[in-house]
Amino acid sequence: MDFSLSPQEEAFRKELFAWLDKNTVELRKRRAALGPGMLGLGGLPATTKMGHRGEGDAGDAQGEADPMRDFTRWWHQQLHDAGYVGIAWPREYGGRGATVMEQVIFNEEMTKRRLPTGVGGLGVGCAGPTIIVHGNEEQKKRFLPRILSGEDVWCQAFSEPGAGSDLAGCQTRAVEDGDCYVVNGQKVWTTGGMGADWAILLAKTDFDPKTPVHRTFSYFLMDMHSPGVTVRPLREITGFAAFGETFLDNVRIPKDLMLGKKNGGWYISMNTLEFERSNSASSIQYLSTIESLVELAQKMRRNGQPLSKDPVTRQRIAQFYIEANVGKYMGMHALTRQLRGQTPGPESSVGSLLTMELGQRIEDFAMNLQGSYSQLTGGKYAISNGAWQRSFLSSRGRTIMTGTSEIKRNVIAQRTLGLPRYTE
Ligand SMILES: Cc1cc2nc3c(=O)[nH]c(=O)nc-3n(C[C@H](O)[C@H](O)[C@H](O)COP(=O)(O)OP(=O)(O)OC[C@H]3O[C@@H](n4cnc5c(N)ncnc54)[C@H](O)[C@@H]3O)c2cc1C
Repeated sequence: MDFSLSPQEEAFRKELFAWLDKNTVELRKRRAALGPGMLGLGGLPATTKMGHRGEGDAGDAQGEADPMRDFTRWWHQQLHDAGYVGIAWPREYGGRGATVMEQVIFNEEMTKRRLPTGVGGLGVGCAGPTIIVHGNEEQKKRFLPRILSGEDVWCQAFSEPGAGSDLAGCQTRAVEDGDCYVVNGQKVWTTGGMGADWAILLAKTDFDPKTPVHRTFSYFLMDMHSPGVTVRPLREITGFAAFGETFLDNVRIPKDLMLGKKNGGWYISMNTLEFERSNSASSIQYLSTIESLVELAQKMRRNGQPLSKDPVTRQRIAQFYIEANVGKYMGMHALTRQLRGQTPGPESSVGSLLTMELGQRIEDFAMNLQGSYSQLTGGKYAISNGAWQRSFLSSRGRTIMTGTSEIKRNVIAQRTLGLPRYTE
């Protein structure tokens, strides 16, 4: 890899910096108005994980005001109008058609400045790329520009109460009826489901017990506003309700909203998971968390000395920095494959696993540095208004979402290293 910038990339960097200098003044004003309880480390909204509208609360489902959703939508609009959403997407579908380096320059600068990304993480990161690879021209033209503009917010309806790691255990059924499929079943852990407009959905379309299980699923683009779709929020340990249970009761999906071929959905869903894992493969975000960790170590004292002078603390932080940089280059590797027209591949599990586990270790260490202050989530003695506590709690899900660490290790063992599948 050559990381020196070409004249075009240098020009992009300058243009981006100038735009951010000008536009973040209003952003900071609006962000401050959200109040400390809504903010995470570095002042980012605490639930921007996937950037979905509707992350706020059950109230969203009833169309109640949600200041954080409005803030995120407003910021998305600014980014989109300036051409900074879908930087690496083809121009014909509303993207910028830029290089991998331009995407990386953007990602790094947003993180360095601790700026939020906008709505539609799932749409831009997973649904859109899957539609680019597997959709027909009509589907691409219909959905891709609206994903980039933030008009349509997407969620992923794959997991079920009895099918998470073992996704092939999905029981949701889609039965042909005229020009539609009629879908019945239940999904769970649907991130952003309460406010989403569309879902990528995996459902069974072959019910013959003799058919190999991986050939029994189809992949649908489902309108979340269809009659029969109900999403109930699930409240997390953080106090936020970022995901929900999705009930599908005789939902009619027109046949032209099937992605790819009937009973070919399993392989498409594996591509979606690769995109999802490649998005989480880059640890650029942790470079700014490590900066916050350095500030924390300078602030906290033990035996009259700041912890930043403690040799063990310094070694640990330096090690995190090294690992975050390794994760950064793994993320660039995955992005390079995508820009060459390839899917991220099973290797995306390597970067994702490294990054997700690193994030948890950083959060654990930050709690240790705070000693007994780590128990305070608010009040005048709480460190950073409880932002470390909120991010520590939400980090627990990182080694479960996008596939658990055990499943990613299985993928690496079988699909990257060619080791045999484990059998008793
Ligand atoms: C924050 C968050 C957001 C999420 N968002 C979404 C979403 O938007 N859409 C969606 O569809 N899903 C989503 N999920 C669900 C997620 O994909 C599942 O939770 C995950 O795949 C694990 O499935 P499970 O919860 O059923 O656990 P299980 O599959 O029941 O696993 C339980 C335990 O058994 C282990 N295990 C299972 N099988 C194996 C095996 N073969 N080898 C070794 N160990 C094994 C697992 O590692 C785990 O420790 C989200 C989850 C989280 C935490």
